[in-house]
Amino acid sequence: MATYHIETYGCSSNRGESREIERALRDGGHRPADGPEDADVAILNTCTVVEKTERNMLRRAEELEDVTAELVVTGCMALAQGDAFREAGVDAEILHWDEVPSHVLNGECPTVTPDAEPVLDGVVGILPIARGCMSNCSYCITKFATGRVDSPTVEENVEKARALVHAGAKEIRVTGQDTGVYGWDNGDRKLPELLDRICDIDGDFRVRLGMANPGGIHGIHEELAEVFADNEELYDFIHAPVQSGSDDVLEDMRRQHRVEKFREVVETFDDRLDHWTLSTDFIVGFPTETEADHERSMDLLAEVRPEKINVTRFSKRPGTDAADMKGLGGTIKKERSKAMSELKMEVVGDAYESMVGETFEVLVVEEGTGDSVKCRDGAYRQIIVQNAAERGVAVGDFLEVEVTGHNTVYAFGEPTDGGRPVDEDPAESTPSSA
Ligand code: SF4
Repeated sequence: MATYHIETYGCSSNRGESREIERALRDGGHRPADGPEDADVAILNTCTVVEKTERNMLRRAEELEDVTAELVVTGCMALAQGDAFREAGVDAEILHWDEVPSHVLNGECPTVTPDAEPVLDGVVGILPIARGCMSNCSYCITKFATGRVDSPTVEENVEKARALVHAGAKEIRVTGQDTGVYGWDNGDRKLPELLDRICDIDGDFRVRLGMANPGGIHGIHEELAEVFADNEELYDFIHAPVQSGSDDVLEDMRRQHRVEKFREVVETFDDRLDHWTLSTDFIVGFPTETEADHERSMDLLAEVRPEKINVTRFSKRPGTDAADMKGLGGTIKKERSKAMSELKMEVVGDAYESMVGETFEVLVVEEGTGDSVKCRDGAYRQIIVQNAAERGVAVGDFLEVEVTGHNTVYAFGEPTDGGRPVDEDPAESTPSSA
C-alpha cells in the first residue's frame, strides 16, 4: 500500500482525469498522504496552456522532486512536452493519465481496505469480497501488509451487494487482492457461486469482476466461464495479470501460474463468450529477464491481443526478495518498456478500430469532461458520448450507441436514438405530431 499526493493544474478536464486516478488508487488500497513530503509517490497533473504555465509546471516539478520519494508527471504538458522535464533534469516518470495507477501499483495486486466495507461512488458500488492472497510473489510488498486470503461468506457478500443495489448502484465492482482465490481459506473456491448469486439480485445493474491472478482462476476457469455465459449482468471482462511471457521469469517472480495456464484460461473464455475483454499486466525489466524472455512477453502479447494492457517497468520494493537481485540497467528497462508500449498501442488501436460502425448497449457510468459521459459496453469497453445534457443522457442510463471513432484509450459513440434510454417507450418520450 502506497500513500500518494496529487496536484492538479488547469481545466476541468484535467481535474476529471485526477479524479479518475484517485479513484483507481483508492480501489487499489492506496491512501492520500498529508502532503508531498509524506507521500510514497507525488503525482503532478500538468497544464500547458501558456508559456508562463509551462515555467510554473517545471518549477513545481523541481520542488516536488526535492521533497517526495518518487515523482510522476502526467497531464497535458507531460504528454506534449515531456522532454522539457527531462531536459530540465527532473527525475520523474512521465506518463499518460491512464498509466499512472498501474505504475503506482507496481505490478502488485490491489489491497482492500481492512474494514472491507462497500462504498457507493455515484452509481458505482465498490464491493471488496475478501482481503489477502494465496501467493508470495518475490517482488511484492503488499503481501507483508495483507497476508493470507480471508474470505467472508458468500451470504455476507451477497447481502452487501444487495445493499449497494438498493442504494442505487448500477455497476458493482467486485474487488479483492486476488478475487480468483475467494473462499480458498475456507476450503472451497466460491467465486463462481458468489457471482451467480449477485447476478440474481433484483434490479438493473452490471457487475465487474476485479483482478484475478491466472494461477487462482485456472482452477475454476471452466465453471467461471459458464457463469459469465449465463449472466448478462456480468461484464464480459477479466483482468488476469500474466506479468511475463517467460516461464523462467514467472518462476523467479514466484507467480503461481505458467504461461500455459494463462493461455488455457484465455482459450476457455474465447470458447464460451462471443466477445470479451481480456485485461492483463506485464512487468518489464524484472532482474532476471533476458532479451529472449522479453521477446517471449512480446510474442505472448501479440498472440493473445488483450484489449487492455498495463505495462509496468520493474522497480524494487524494500524488503522483497526481488530487491536483493542484481537489477537490469535503466536503459534496458526503458527500451523494453518502450517496445512493449508501442506494441500495446497497436493492439489496443486495432481493437478500438474494429468497434467503429458497430452498435452496443452501454451503461452510462459517470460524467466525463465537459458535457460528456463515460459509458461501458457489455465487455467493459469505455465509450464516450458527447453533448450528454443536450441529448438528455444521464449517469445510470442504459443506451444504445454507435461507435464513430476512437483514440488509444476509449471509443467515441453516438446514441442511435438521440439519447433515449433503451428501456424507455418511444411513444412516451417523443412528442406526437398527431
Ligand atoms: S498475488 Fe502476488 S503480487 Fe498479488 S498481493 Fe499476493 S503476493 Fe502480492
